[in-house]
Formats: sequence, structure tokens, C-alpha cells
Amino acid sequence: MPDSPDLSVQIDNQIRTSGPMSLSTYMRLCLSHPRLGYYRTGVPLGAGGDFVTAPEISQTFGEMIGVWIANAWQTMGSPPSFDLVELGPGRGTLMADAVRVLARVPGLLDAARVLLAESSPELISEQKRRLAELNPQWITEIAQADDRDTPLLVIANEFFDALPVKQYQKADGAWHERVIGLEAGKRVWGLDPTPLPAESLPESVRDAEDGAVWESARIAADVMTDIAERLARRTGALLAIDYGYDRTQTGDTFQAIAGHDYADPLAAPGEADLTTHVDFAALAEAARTGGAAPGPLLTQAQFLTALGIEQRHESLAAANPGKAEELAAAVERLTGPEKMGTLFKCLCVASGGLNLYPFDGTTGT
Ligand code: SAH
Repeated sequence: MPDSPDLSVQIDNQIRTSGPMSLSTYMRLCLSHPRLGYYRTGVPLGAGGDFVTAPEISQTFGEMIGVWIANAWQTMGSPPSFDLVELGPGRGTLMADAVRVLARVPGLLDAARVLLAESSPELISEQKRRLAELNPQWITEIAQADDRDTPLLVIANEFFDALPVKQYQKADGAWHERVIGLEAGKRVWGLDPTPLPAESLPESVRDAEDGAVWESARIAADVMTDIAERLARRTGALLAIDYGYDRTQTGDTFQAIAGHDYADPLAAPGEADLTTHVDFAALAEAARTGGAAPGPLLTQAQFLTALGIEQRHESLAAANPGKAEELAAAVERLTGPEKMGTLFKCLCVASGGLNLYPFDGTTGT
């Protein structure tokens, strides 16, 4: 069957020929189909796009990440050569803001090889334009950095939430995979008839009530384990920031955002951003599997405050009095309770013995 130029038709045809589709396959096709996937066809981020991320809200976010990177590099003994990797750099805003801080640390930028893992050709073009001075290289997987054994620092803001997951639901006492089928020509949720052995679920969710949904982020865990192995071997750390929860739990967090609003995730494949909340306990476990040590989970507010966002905000506001209100609102959005400040969490995983501020026990959880 020739490929339809319409992703909905392609997905429906695949369901007709091969049966109900796993959510992970659906997410992969919607987000990353080589021609029609959401991240392949346009620039989704920013005011004119579908959603706004922290670096797009305020320059102080990327600057604080810059402070964290500088601090981490110095804690590692200012190695003369290291890999600075960003996973899913979006429009390159975070890195561009971080670099202003990094440039003030003697020797740091000369020591850095910048590697960007990005799947969207549109976003790669934008990153090329905005980050040219860093002379970055683009990679598709972390193994491409294996030509060196220098230390490694990895940044991932709203990256893990975009990786495909599977969902399982409990029905009549047994767990079944949630799948996407067709009913009267419409995409609908269903359950795979073959139950999953309860032992294959984490203990904390196994005994949930009928109707409960558990999300399994296998791909995110594999990416984390792959990176953790490199961290353990080469020394270094990964910083992941995402909307998520700190203990493995049940709950359907799969959502679609289009035009800054929630949408039906099954309605328009390839036209909405699809995400799930991140299970940080599972990510931390995946890091341990790879031989790295996860630090305490901090809220985004704790992390940004510890790195000095308030002081940075004050000096920005003093330099731009006409914009004081706008700047204050942006910082409040990043750090406010019930806003990104508590909903978003920061996980740092590091090679053994590397204790990085503010994950070193100085900032309370
Ligand atoms: N970090 C940026 C963008 C977040 S959106 C910010 O905070 O603004 C998610 C990013 O991950 C996008 O750049 C998207 O293209 C990229 N991405 C999603 N899946 C990916 C994958 N499998 N490999 C590499 N990049 C991916």
C-alpha cells in the first residue's frame, strides 16, 4: 500500500492491516514520522507555536543552567576537554542563554565540544543559526560521542516527556496494554486481550484498583541507562528537567497540546504535541542500572533559587525598568508554586563521587 500523504490515513491503514496499535507506536509516528511527524514539519515552540518552554519564557532559565554547567565543570576540576551535550535543544534558546554565562568562565568554552541531539530538521536549522559560534555537532544517539573518553555534561529540558510510552490498564483484576483501534472509522482506545503478568509491573502499582492506568517509559529509561554508562565510565553528570512525579504511580498523563490548548490526542495525528509526565523514580532507577548515581529530586523553584535566579532577576529588572513587570511575571511563572516552580522537577545523575551543587544535600527537598 503506498504511503498516504496524510498521517491519519497512514495510521488508520496500519491499524486495519496489523490490528490495534500500541501507544508507543502511535506516539512515535505522530511525533517523529520522517516526513509527517509533529517535530518534523514545523517549529512548534514559542508564542506562535503550540507550547512555551521555560527557556522561551525567560532568559534567566538558560542563564541558571549556564551557572550550573560552570559550577559542574569546576567541581570536576576544570577538565581541559569535555563534551557538553544537549538533548532536544528546541530553538537553541537555552544554550544561547547559557553560553553568555559560560563565556565568562576562563577556559570553559575552549574546553567544550558541543553536541546537540535533535530529531527535527527545522529545529536543527534554527540551532545552526543561533549557536554557530559554538561550532556544535549534531548527533542522533549518545554512542556517537564515544570517540572520546573526556568528562561529559548532559542537559535535557523537556526532552524525556516527549519520548513514546506504553500504557497498561487494570480490568477485572488483570493488567492489559492500552491500544488504539478503529470503531466506525474513528480511532478509539481499547485493551489488548492478553494480560500482562503482574510481576512485570513495579510493586507500587501492581495492586491498584480496576481502571487504574500505569505508564511504562521504556525508551526514556534506555536513553538514561545508555547515558549513565558513559557518565560512569567518563565521569560527568546529566541534568533533566521535566513536568513529572517523584514516585512511580498510576495515572493517565498522556496529553496533546495544540495552539496552547489541550486537544484530543487521538484526533489529529502529527498536528499536536504529545507528552506524558515523567516518572523520575523510573529514570533514577535506569541511571543506577547504567552505573550512575541519582541525586535528590529538586523542584524547579528550588533549583533555580539555589543558583541565584532572584539576584539575576533583580539586576535585569534594574537595567530594564520599563520591563520590570514583564520580567517579574516571567520569573514568577518559572518559580511560582502551582506553576512551573513545583510542577517541574530537576534530576541530576552523576558518576560516583561527583557531588554537584545544588544536588549535594545543601538544598532541602
Ligand atoms: N529543550 C527545548 C525543547 C523542548 S521540546 C526547550 O526547552 O525549549 C522537545 C525537543 O526534543 C524538541 O527539540 C524535539 O525536536 C526534540 N526531540 C523529541 N524527540 C526527540 C528524539 N527522539 N531525539 C532527539 N530529539 C528529540
